Amino acid sequence: MKWEAVIGLEVHAQMLTAAKIFCGCPTTFGNEPNSQTCQICIGMPGVLPVLNRKALEFAVRTGLATDCTISKYSRFARKNYFYPDLPKGYQISQFENPICEHGHIEIMVDNELKRIGITRIHMEEDAGKNIHEGAGPYSFVDLNRTGVPLMEIVSEPDLRSPKEAVEYMKKLRSIVRYLGVCDGNLEQGSFRCDANVSIRPVGQEEFGTRAEVKNINSFRYVEKAIEYEIKRQIKVVEGGGKVIQETRLWDAGRGITESMRSKEEAHDYRYFPEPDLVPIMVEQSWVDEIRASLPELPDAKKQRFVSDFGLTDCDAELLTSERTTAAWFERAVKANGQPKAVANWVMGDLMKLLNEENRSIEDCPIRPQQLAAMLQLIDKGTISGKIAKTVFDEMYKTGRDADEIVKEKGLVQISDSSEIEKIVDDIIAKSPKEVERFKAGDEKLIGFFVGQAMKASKGKANPQMLNELLKKKLA
Ligand code: ADP
Ligand code: MG
Ligand code: ZN
Repeated sequence: MKWEAVIGLEVHAQMLTAAKIFCGCPTTFGNEPNSQTCQICIGMPGVLPVLNRKALEFAVRTGLATDCTISKYSRFARKNYFYPDLPKGYQISQFENPICEHGHIEIMVDNELKRIGITRIHMEEDAGKNIHEGAGPYSFVDLNRTGVPLMEIVSEPDLRSPKEAVEYMKKLRSIVRYLGVCDGNLEQGSFRCDANVSIRPVGQEEFGTRAEVKNINSFRYVEKAIEYEIKRQIKVVEGGGKVIQETRLWDAGRGITESMRSKEEAHDYRYFPEPDLVPIMVEQSWVDEIRASLPELPDAKKQRFVSDFGLTDCDAELLTSERTTAAWFERAVKANGQPKAVANWVMGDLMKLLNEENRSIEDCPIRPQQLAAMLQLIDKGTISGKIAKTVFDEMYKTGRDADEIVKEKGLVQISDSSEIEKIVDDIIAKSPKEVERFKAGDEKLIGFFVGQAMKASKGKANPQMLNELLKKKLA
């Protein structure tokens, strides 16, 4: 029997507000434990929370960008449970009336567009962090993160493969980064996901029982954890067993998921409306204002890159996944009007160099205008495409202009036919055996001659002229 996976993701995105969601404490990451707390976020008796308006605005921005309906009326609820990192004994979240509902985003998988539903986006406060490292038989609690604003973005169970789940998460990350509402940092936990996974026989409409996998903190692990979980469930069912509804933990070291606890149900949390916060009434005029302030989003930009610049869907998708990359690309295109050439250099050599150093394009040593100028040198025939790679590397290392590097290193392409002819004659004279074999029909040997001649010219011979001359002389 063939099995099909059904996957839904719950993404927690930390909102990029300066202050926490219900108090004025800062949200900065990595400071001295418990240095960013106050009576409100550690839950002292008698204190009252007040909603951070910026957090509400960011949630609305995200809802609008994902085609959600923005609720005119929404409110907070208490989710009650005990854990040492939750001093109040409850988390302020949203339950019955989330701020955003019924949205969707589009992802590209294997060159096909697929729409993934977003069930809801709600606001909530983060909990603190238990720390089990260090000397002695103690665990520690750091409450700096307590009360940091989160959005929980819940997808419909529309995803069908680990790859789709990764694409969905990447697209969501791209959107929140475009919006400036979340930094999307998976390592620091400001963009994290729980994956709900079930399987069913292909063709069956009804969903199977899901397991929820937590603790996944990279795109690679999203894929690996879901892959593992699908295989595990198939094995259970094919072995005559039943998948049980439970929460599982991804163990990255061992590459497996492990049962953590049986799945809690909503009623276990005794949700009830938060009595310390007033309900939120959102005015249409404010929503309209926020909508008008949205930037051009990745999908719209992608469409424009395809129609205005003639790029393929795939290239446009890659170039628009980061707003800063798209902006860099556009500046270079503006300076020289060759979108395809610019796209190839950005997606190839530039991305490779930046990735090697884990550097973002914002502090790229090459300016877009400098790439444009280098492409002009290729067009004019001053340098070959091959030499350009050397020049580009040097530009990246030093930040200098292409023409300066070309002059200084003597990299100007040889396009003087008599000079190339000399080189070609020399190689032919030195290689009588190869000439014989070539003439006898071993045409692959043209590569040998081109290689030798290129080497002799230190890579500077105009490749087209070289090829033509060689073919003529060997004919
Ligand atoms: P809970 O808090 O119980 O995890 P949520 O409503 O927050 O519930 O999230 C449920 C998630 O599980 C959603 O992303 C939804 O798409 C997904 N889901 C629901 N049923 C299934 C299923 N049978 N298989 C896989 N995913 C599912
Ligand atoms: Mg859940
Ligand atoms: Zn505080």
